[in-house]
Amino acid sequence: VQHHLSNIKKKAHLNAFLSVYEKEALERALAIDKKIKEGKAGKLAGLIVGLKDVLAYKDHPLQASSRVLDGFVSQFNATAVQRLLDEDAIIIGRQNCDEFAMGSSNENSAFGPVLNDADNTRVPGGSSGGSAVAVQADMCQVSLGSDTGGSVRQPAAFCGLVGLKPTYSRISRFGLVAYGSSFDCIGIFGKSVEDVALVLEVIAGADDADSTVSQQPVPSYTKELSQSTNKAYKVAYVREIDSSEGLQPEIRDAIKAKLDEIRVAGHSVDVIDFPLQEYVLPTYYILATAEASSNLSRYDGVRYGYRSSEVTDLNSLYKKSRSEGFGKEVQKRILLGTFVLSASYYDAYYTKAQKVRRIIREKTKEILNKYDFIVMPITPTTAFKLGEHTDNPLEMYLADLFSVQANVAGVPAIAIPCGNDKQGLPIGLQIIADDFEESKLLHFSNALL
Ligand code: GLN
Repeated sequence: VQHHLSNIKKKAHLNAFLSVYEKEALERALAIDKKIKEGKAGKLAGLIVGLKDVLAYKDHPLQASSRVLDGFVSQFNATAVQRLLDEDAIIIGRQNCDEFAMGSSNENSAFGPVLNDADNTRVPGGSSGGSAVAVQADMCQVSLGSDTGGSVRQPAAFCGLVGLKPTYSRISRFGLVAYGSSFDCIGIFGKSVEDVALVLEVIAGADDADSTVSQQPVPSYTKELSQSTNKAYKVAYVREIDSSEGLQPEIRDAIKAKLDEIRVAGHSVDVIDFPLQEYVLPTYYILATAEASSNLSRYDGVRYGYRSSEVTDLNSLYKKSRSEGFGKEVQKRILLGTFVLSASYYDAYYTKAQKVRRIIREKTKEILNKYDFIVMPITPTTAFKLGEHTDNPLEMYLADLFSVQANVAGVPAIAIPCGNDKQGLPIGLQIIADDFEESKLLHFSNALL
């Protein structure tokens, strides 16, 4: 704990943490040490974990990096957090992120951007940028983030880490600040597949507090990871990826080289067509903003956090508190979502996007019925410069080109490191598997590292 606390201090300029629970973490370490000696320690004894500022931790601040939740303190633990604590993990702090998890660069936080430890002039990715950098810079061993449209895998790629988004509904969302509820997944950052597997097996599974969580039993991912299999897998690569707008050639080459390695290791790789590729990103941004506009209506200046001081009546209370409390990007998303849900446009945008989502899921599942995995890049470029895309939202949204398919389809996906570009910046490889095939996904990823 001391080692990680000292790294947090040394690297404070990266702005990865919003709160550090120094005293509490040190005390907990001593208590867990005692438990270890008594042979009573849990599965995660002493594992040092950071929490993205969207996960409820009882009696600790929670504000989704937003002014609108200024002063808010959680009264309960998220189920995932409770399960970490029950197994004796140590929570070291609350991590910076894009406001309400909306962003791809961590530049939308009310607390300022997070810097990439590989190059301080570059972004760490988003929205879980603080959670990624905290693991990258050895400020904690594992972080919990949230992945609604790539927010764990994309920053994992920009920071050279393993980042897992499990199947939708694999982990309870109770205590996770809602963005797009039909997409939101808690995800895990680590330096190794083993760490990620261990945390997943602790936090996944049925929960009475979340009616959408899966009742499927949780396998022992770590045990299955250590079993050797000589299985030859069938891997699909989508042809359309090669002609994607803005794909950095070094990323394409790194993925192709990895595919060659996969073949040499005895697996098969087929190039397949996925003509729906170009519809995935617009479908995501229509549905995610629609859900966000509905979810964020609860921040009204009455029930939580910030309330404007210049209020004259109820309407001005809503208006002023929300205008002053929410940042620009969040306001933009609420407007977009309200527009696509409005009576005159609902069918043209929302209903149509729902239909397209169904088709994307079916076609993705069709591929995954024939193949074990789909392999593709996770980001079109490596980490970009701070400010590079802030004036052009469409350019920023394009950073999510390859990450959103797994969320739209609901299937699990992982980012693993796949070398560096000429400037030494990490490149990520994405592997997508079928529903609830995390075990196979983790096993294959581990073999590729
Ligand atoms: N960048 C995407 C967005 O802004 C994804 C965010 C996320 O996964 N939370 O919507």
